[in-house]
Amino acid sequence: MTFQELPLRESLIRAITERGYVEPTEIQAQAIPALATTETDFVGQAQTGTGKTAAFSLPLLNKIDFTNRDVQALILTPTRELANQITEEIKKFSTYEKVKTLAVYGGVSLEGQIRGLRKDRPQIVVGTPGRVLDLIDRGVLILDNAKYAVLDEADEMLDMGFIDDVKQILSNLGEDRKTWMFSATMPAPILSLIKTYLKDPLVVKV
Ligand code: AMP
Repeated sequence: MTFQELPLRESLIRAITERGYVEPTEIQAQAIPALATTETDFVGQAQTGTGKTAAFSLPLLNKIDFTNRDVQALILTPTRELANQITEEIKKFSTYEKVKTLAVYGGVSLEGQIRGLRKDRPQIVVGTPGRVLDLIDRGVLILDNAKYAVLDEADEMLDMGFIDDVKQILSNLGEDRKTWMFSATMPAPILSLIKTYLKDPLVVKV
């Protein structure tokens, strides 16, 4: 299979090809067609290095309404490094799209991130749970119109003690949002989170 065969906008295919990707990885081949063209919750059991970033980023970019400047997708991830890495990937994939992506994480001043949210009006926010919750509580990060929540490395977020923050953030999102979770392992608290917060998810294990 090639990327050309995947149901993605031509501008995305062009950026992927320029990035040097030829064949989708297994998780990409299984996730992209479903996520890019249908509205479903999703659980992907996949390790780092399997190409999961593109597996959720490309369908998100395929779905974002570029004319709308609300936050449309929230990606939660355990560390600042991952938040920056995902943001950089998305920026490369969206070379030909009018979309703004902002990373927010703790350990640095709030001011720049607050200014970024207000001024840049990003449609995609990638963040660590604590800082995301803080920005929600301050009324700066408004998720009323967010249609997609991605939980990246859910088991890592659990191990780092972020699970309650994650649950609180999910409770802030509208009922009809879609939730896509990726986790390398499925310990009991993750299974319980899936049961409580995801609706009839498509499950893919690679
Ligand atoms: P990830 O698992 O998302 O962290 O991706 C692991 C690495 O594989 C990253 O350096 C990606 O840029 C790269 N990668 C992801 N998908 C592909 C693909 N289909 N073809 C070539 N490289 C890829």
